[in-house]
This record gives sequence, structure tokens and C-alpha cells, in this order.
Amino acid sequence: LCMMEKFEPVLTPEELRSRLPEWPYFIIDLQLWDKHTQKEKGKVCLQINQSYGLLRDYFTGGELAVTWAGEEFRSMFHGPLDRITAYKGPTAEFLKEKGIDEVVLLDPWADEVLSEEDFEVRAFVIGGIVDTGHDKKLTPKIGEELERAGIKVRRRKIVLRGDVTGVPDRINRILGIILKMMVEGKPMDEAVYEFQ
Ligand code: SAM
Repeated sequence: LCMMEKFEPVLTPEELRSRLPEWPYFIIDLQLWDKHTQKEKGKVCLQINQSYGLLRDYFTGGELAVTWAGEEFRSMFHGPLDRITAYKGPTAEFLKEKGIDEVVLLDPWADEVLSEEDFEVRAFVIGGIVDTGHDKKLTPKIGEELERAGIKVRRRKIVLRGDVTGVPDRINRILGIILKMMVEGKPMDEAVYEFQ
């Protein structure tokens, strides 16, 4: 045992982290914050907190960025503001600071389905939107805004047996589905079932 201990590499968490490939950012975009009622804003905050919890299970939690995070969000958010990245400005500005020029936008209105090839991007954007019913076409606005600012946007949808109906649309569940697929290599249908 003594001999073995001699050769056991002792790595600090920081050293271990630096050896792993770069982790992507998961960005929750709050540009439509003001369109929500107070009750809905509370739900957005709760879902962001739950997203932080999920992400911490897989990564550190610091990969969670909330953009357009104004004073009201900061005061209403009961999660660990210091452990996430709460960025006051637009998503495109945050991306430029990080040297990222292409993202995957999770968008139920997209033509293309999210696939493994999309996991190479350095940032995923989820709309910080809470609305019941899929009737309002809101997420594409976020994509248009990013494109206007010169960011390449891969709009991708998550489907269950080929259809967006039956896919939970809560922000944290969408993030959970991506993580199950990306980190655990689960097929989309299976990942969706687990978050229903
Ligand atoms: N009616 C809203 C709309 O038009 O986008 C629904 C917003 S949904 C409550 C919140 C976010 O979850 C969306 O902005 C999107 O990023 C993500 N999302 C929800 N369902 C999705 C799906 N089936 N595929 C991809 N992303 C989805």
C-alpha cells in the first residue's frame, strides 16, 4: 500500500478541471423579461435556480450564464448569484467577450432537430421565457437578435418521436434533456421521457 501511494498522482480539483476539455456555456437569455407578469418572473427565477442545481450535478454550475440580468432579476433570484454568471448586457456581447461566434439556440419553432454534431459548439442558448401553451412564437426573436449582432445561430428543436408536442418546455427540463444527451449519451426520446 505504501508503494502504491507513492505513485498515486495527487491532483487538486483545479488541476483536474484544467485537464478536461472546455465546457460549454449554457445561457438563459432574459431579453423578454419585461413581457412577463410578476408571477411569471418568479417562475423564470425558480427555473433558473433549478437549472443551476442540474448543471452543478454534471459540471460546476459556473457554466450557467444569465444574460440581460437586470436589477429586478437580481433581487428576485433566490439562488446563488455569485456562483452563476449574471451578465447585465445582451447575449451577443457576452459571447463576444468569451470569443464565441456560433451558438445553438434551443427553439421549438426550428426546422432542424438537435443532434450530436451540435454538441461541438461552445454555447447553448435557452429562452428565459415562461408561457403556457406553445402558441406564441417568441424564441425565434432571440435568434434574430443574435444574428443581427453577427453571431451564427443554429436553431434546433427537441422532439419526442418526431414531434415537439409532449416535450416539456420548462427551462430547466430543456437543459436537463440536453445534459442527458450530451454527458450521458442518451438518445433524445429517452432523455425526454426522463424529464416528462
Ligand atoms: N412559446 C414560447 C416560444 O415561442 O418559444 C415557449 C418558450 S419555452 C417555455 C422556454 C424555452 O425553452 C424556449 O425559449 C426554448 O429555448 C426552450 N424550449 C422549449 N421547448 C423546446 C423544444 N421543444 N425544443 C427546443 N427548445 C425548447
